[in-house]
Amino acid sequence: MSTPPSTPSDLVVVRKEGLYCVPGQFYIDPWRPVERAVITHAHGDHARGGHQHYLTAETGVNVVKSRLGPIHIEGLAYGERVVHNGVTISLHPAGHVLGSAQVRMEYQGQVWVASGDYKVEADSTCTPFEPVRCDTFITESTFGLPIYQWQPQQEVYDDINDWWRSNAEQGRASVMQCYSFGKAQRILSGLDPDIGPIICHGAVQTLNQVYRDDGVWLPPTVMVGEVDKQDIGRAMVIAPPSAAGSPWIKRFGDFSDAFASGWMQLRGARRRRGVDRGFVLSDHADWPGLMQAITATGAERVIVTHGSIPVLVRWLQQQGLQASGFDTEYGDDEADEVAAAGVAADPVATAAAGRATETEGAADA
Ligand SMILES: [Zn+2]
Ligand SMILES: [Zn+2]
Repeated sequence: MSTPPSTPSDLVVVRKEGLYCVPGQFYIDPWRPVERAVITHAHGDHARGGHQHYLTAETGVNVVKSRLGPIHIEGLAYGERVVHNGVTISLHPAGHVLGSAQVRMEYQGQVWVASGDYKVEADSTCTPFEPVRCDTFITESTFGLPIYQWQPQQEVYDDINDWWRSNAEQGRASVMQCYSFGKAQRILSGLDPDIGPIICHGAVQTLNQVYRDDGVWLPPTVMVGEVDKQDIGRAMVIAPPSAAGSPWIKRFGDFSDAFASGWMQLRGARRRRGVDRGFVLSDHADWPGLMQAITATGAERVIVTHGSIPVLVRWLQQQGLQASGFDTEYGDDEADEVAAAGVAADPVATAAAGRATETEGAADA
């Protein structure tokens, strides 16, 4: 009844270029240039430039292109199968952002699934997460600590709309800082456009167009130059964190600002942002979500990537699973968005992103 050790017949291993499917001779979200890359989604740490050939979910092709420019890329419909060097590859919805996919690999009766990033709660901006049965599941663990438990997203949307409404009544614009790909569109999908105009930063508007072209409904949005001056005080402004303190943002005068991220659950992160409000909204699974997804795969072996690897590995071992970690160079899109404005992210988030930063020391304990 002892668990088998990891063997040379492992379907996926880590190489210096990235996660490598050995018999298939391709990489999954490689961090160094390779010949063949299967891309789970278009966030910067997963979809990098310089590969010779890209394969991604059909709905993700335009997003990857919009971020990487002219590349040789092929799209695969969710569930469609291709065989590459004897490995049957298919992509399945990860529910993370538009076009996000889990990679299923089958070889000589063995099934492995690499999750990329995923979220189990469905939202209207991307295809909902689909559990895939497998023998070995490679899971992310961005929020792999039991303290992370999200409230239903509708409650967060209601809180955001309440905040916007009360600012609008006082004639102040509401500036929402969030990641321009994924988070921004998800927030847009929950806004009540009757409250006032919705102004998007150019970086956000570019991605909105990709979503709309793909048939995702988003409320009407405008660029700042298209809004009458007297309407600015009722506006919701969606901007990336990098716009904070810029001349662009100063046009909104005496505004109220907010930040949306899973890390906002940590009080320290909220305070450090120096914004009026923090909304806890993540495109990653919370702790119960990770448990739900892992259980649904039926996998006996779980390999944990970026996030809280030791905690999740220990927990899974206690549940009787064979668990270990993979050392990857995936970052953390949520920590990246917090760090983007040059403000120190929460130490936990920053550690997850693998980047050095100042901390506030004992005051935060
Ligand atoms: Zn991501
Ligand atoms: Zn990731």
